[in-house]
Amino acid sequence: FLRGRTAIVTGSNSGIGLGVAHRLARAGADIVLNSFSDREEDHALARKLAEEHDVSVRYIKADMSRSDECRALIGQAGRCDILVNNAGIQHVAAIPDFPTDKWDSIIAINLTSAFHTTAAALPMMRKAGWGRIVNIASAHGMTASAYKSAYVAAKHGLVGFTKVTALETAKEQITCNAICPGYVLTPLVEAQIPDTMKEYNMTRDEVIRNVMLERQPSKEFATVEQMGDTAVFLCSDAAAQITGTTISVDGGWTAQ
Ligand code: NAD
Repeated sequence: FLRGRTAIVTGSNSGIGLGVAHRLARAGADIVLNSFSDREEDHALARKLAEEHDVSVRYIKADMSRSDECRALIGQAGRCDILVNNAGIQHVAAIPDFPTDKWDSIIAINLTSAFHTTAAALPMMRKAGWGRIVNIASAHGMTASAYKSAYVAAKHGLVGFTKVTALETAKEQITCNAICPGYVLTPLVEAQIPDTMKEYNMTRDEVIRNVMLERQPSKEFATVEQMGDTAVFLCSDAAAQITGTTISVDGGWTAQ
């Protein structure tokens, strides 16, 4: 049902972004993949996705920590019916030790990029008379964990920005919502394990069981396919009146 629509997914050469791109492509949307790198394997990923789902897929390099590149991504794509703000990074440290450059880049990539892409995409959606914005927030957009100050601040900010975007588009055929994943085993989560092992003086297994999945009552990681299918649902007619809200896909984390 998404044939003829173009979806731009930021930070989509791995993890949740790539999972969302797959599901949107399966539903028929043409895809723009993005990250800050420009490797042969990034373009190969685009070719593979196009072949698999018989849609058009382009890879556009743009660094989501830079305002001009966020806006240029949308401009270069030329069309944007579905915008998925997914690019994100993490850093784990206590507040007094939290490096300022890490704070700045987390706020830029996880929060400010969504402002720039949304600002550039809305005129295109308005011209087309239809649009869907899906912001990939987090359970950390609703609750907090120690040592993740910048991430939690950015994700709470992204949930707030989602609500404002929804209000500014409420009378149009445009919706904006946030998906709040719990723990999904992706490269981003994998990369947190060594730091968390150090922080808590635990083994890998202990970190997974006692720290990561400690607050996820299902005791299972959520999957990138589940995030993708939730995004596809938000693009469907059934979700036309769902706007300005969050959908938690977190195994019960935020029910506690
Ligand atoms: P990931 O590291 O696999 O993916 C992050 C993506 O963002 C990659 O494609 C990476 O290339 C891209 N990226 C990073 N910096 C960028 C930049 N400056 N410009 C452009 N692209 C950039 O991690 P993931 O787990 O798939 O995370 C995707 C999103 O989901 C993030 O916003 C993350 O906060 C959120 N999230 C993840 C989990 C989880 O458990 N994995 C839980 C909640 C929310």
